[in-house]
Amino acid sequence: MWSISTTELVLDFDNPVGSVLMRTSLSKIPRVLVIGLSLVVCGMAPPETVLEQITFDEEGSPRTISGRVVVKAVDGGLLVQERDGRLWTVPAEVLQKRVTTQTPFRSETSKDMGKRLVAELDRSVAPGFHVTHTRHYTIVSSADPRFARWTGQLFERLRTAFLAFWKGRGVKLSDPEFPLVAIVLKDREQFSKFVRRGASFDPTTTTGYYSILSNHIVLYDIARVPGQPPAATSVEIRRRLSTAPRAIATVVHEASHQIAFNSGLNRRLSDNPLWLVEGMAVFFETPDLKSRSGWRTVGRVNRARLARFADFIQSRRGRGSLQSLVGSDRRFRESESAADAYAEAWALNYFLLRTRRKQYASYLKTVSAKPMLTWDSPEKRQAEFEAAFGKDWDELDRMFLKYMGRVRSR
Ligand SMILES: [Zn+2]
Repeated sequence: MWSISTTELVLDFDNPVGSVLMRTSLSKIPRVLVIGLSLVVCGMAPPETVLEQITFDEEGSPRTISGRVVVKAVDGGLLVQERDGRLWTVPAEVLQKRVTTQTPFRSETSKDMGKRLVAELDRSVAPGFHVTHTRHYTIVSSADPRFARWTGQLFERLRTAFLAFWKGRGVKLSDPEFPLVAIVLKDREQFSKFVRRGASFDPTTTTGYYSILSNHIVLYDIARVPGQPPAATSVEIRRRLSTAPRAIATVVHEASHQIAFNSGLNRRLSDNPLWLVEGMAVFFETPDLKSRSGWRTVGRVNRARLARFADFIQSRRGRGSLQSLVGSDRRFRESESAADAYAEAWALNYFLLRTRRKQYASYLKTVSAKPMLTWDSPEKRQAEFEAAFGKDWDELDRMFLKYMGRVRSR
């Protein structure tokens, strides 16, 4: 039994690479969730399958949402999921009414979701939003439609490569229950405005993020050059982006999070160790912009992270580094250690994926089955890691460093 703390809700807080500092937050924390920090969970029942009307107090006025109850806390607090996949924590002290209907819970269609989001964003951000549907993505955008389409195609290719990668490793994934939504804003200024509406992080140096609560990716037209017309072709978009490799890597990184959290690899609001979640997203973040049909570069050596890891080993890495990385997310949360933690997480995932395939798959299975709103102790995290990869940390560390010492930037 654990209570939620804010640190479990925000990922990619400070993610500096080399000299570039990126702040990419994975999660927006609405007020209701902040109140919900004391929600204590005991056990997990399967989610309710009927739609309920939940009314709660939101800063003095009642608000009603329709959704299914995913978790019920011992004190009566609820975790509710709306039909678009959005999660709400409703603590007992603000819950006013719970009405059960006869209607089965079903995901909203991508068409309805697109229409509704356009109306909402036209009202709350600025008029001019439109929807681009690709096979699996709903892109709601105020950017040039050509950039929205290009983004959708990029995500489709990443999704195909992502699913094929795990299938090839015997990891069974499921189809997303909810449409995958990306909100693409026309420029940095509008993006900052959007982020400031509800998020708790500084948007000025952020390129994009994935929100665990809304399940949306949010980004802006990174191919837009101030004072110039939008890029007219996908070739022009690629040409412009070739000068901003970190921006595009961030977009791919966040899209990898979204697929992982929607295909059963990670579960939203459960204890996903950051060394795994972040190392994996970094593993996928090397974009393949040239290929139109596929994605040939999954798992390519991430040069920036490799360089950072080499530097970390040389000057800052102490004994027990693996245990601390695995046991707690602290190093990812603190700005002075975050870049090293991301680099080591990438390296550890790279090493394990290449040398311990079966063990990695079995560890993934353990993590993806974790209950929501329950946070593990460092001891439990380390024990689960040991169950998959063995108890001899020193030996693993030796082999890890030896292996990574031979990896070269290509
Ligand atoms: Zn991340």
